[in-house]
Amino acid sequence: MRFSFILLAGGISDRFKSNVPKQYHKIGEKTLIDIVIHKISQFNEIKKIIVIYNKKHKKYLKNLKLKNIKMLIGGTTRSESTLIGLNYLVKQKKTNKVLIHDAARPNFSKNLIKKIIKNSTKNNAIIPILKLQDALKEIKNKNSILSKSRNNFFLTQTPQCFSLNEIFQLHNNKKQKYQDDDFSLIDNVKKVKFISGEKKNFKITDLEDLNLLKKINKANIKIGIGFDVHRLVVGRKLYLGGVKIPSPLGTLGHSDGDPVLHSVIDALLGACGLGDIGEKFSDKSKKNKNISSTKLIKEVIKEVKQKNYTINNIDINIITETPKLKKFKEKIAHNIAILCQIPRVNINVKAKTTEKLGVIGERKAIASEVIMTVFQND
Ligand code: ZN
Repeated sequence: MRFSFILLAGGISDRFKSNVPKQYHKIGEKTLIDIVIHKISQFNEIKKIIVIYNKKHKKYLKNLKLKNIKMLIGGTTRSESTLIGLNYLVKQKKTNKVLIHDAARPNFSKNLIKKIIKNSTKNNAIIPILKLQDALKEIKNKNSILSKSRNNFFLTQTPQCFSLNEIFQLHNNKKQKYQDDDFSLIDNVKKVKFISGEKKNFKITDLEDLNLLKKINKANIKIGIGFDVHRLVVGRKLYLGGVKIPSPLGTLGHSDGDPVLHSVIDALLGACGLGDIGEKFSDKSKKNKNISSTKLIKEVIKEVKQKNYTINNIDINIITETPKLKKFKEKIAHNIAILCQIPRVNINVKAKTTEKLGVIGERKAIASEVIMTVFQND
């Protein structure tokens, strides 16, 4: 079975009081759209991802720099937008199942997608649902409210999965005007599989929802610590945070000896529970002789991204008597922000001395310590 995924991101979000459209808001460094795409891209079964966007949001979409994603301008309603995506897929003839999802629900688990894929062999449609927990009332008129049994009702979520041709036909021939999800088009529920939805996959409707999602992500925060020292000697270069610093003394090391990047790497590996820099890059290996630490950190960042970690913030102490780092701190922070792919504001660099005490005070060594927080998107 070959799946495609339509991400509906064309909504104007009237109830969301913000200049930036809600689907382009960020949790950590990722927009709601990025978060969904990142999760979905990890499924080999899903061969094609389509983002349906609003033409008014072009500049926001461009900033996302999406790769291997088909982007299509949506219609004026949700159903028009869905049909645009389905039309494209039917013409393409490369997939036979489609998952349709709202960008306002970024917090589904990968497990939910696995369940949907697993169930799709025997069913025409798979719909995640939630039971009602609160009491349910119906407004009869101005003066009367009716109590309803919540057992007769349930809520539907997305992603919903369908046989591509079937849902395309239903959209094409649709009779009813009101359609809040694609399941509403299905009259015969015989071949529909209802699976448990997820409370955490709530729909972001207003700023309160967005703040709740941020809090959920922050609750999963992990902390890492890193420390490194290198000997200062004549005749070597000095790299700090990947920035070449003019100095008569440089660091001795198997690699370029950048204590700042090494301690950032260790803090990152620590936070993500991935060991330490020595295990990853042996100082016995010829390959790593004089290697640029920029290369090392790029490799580690790639690995933690694959494991779906996002760096939250980094705090760095560089401890040295020489050279004076005041005028390089900004450059170092800026460079680390680029290497770690996080906003500059989430990095703090401090330059310290040891008041001329010890080996650092005697200008024989330079040290760096780092503390970092990360969170893992499911
Ligand atoms: Zn080192």
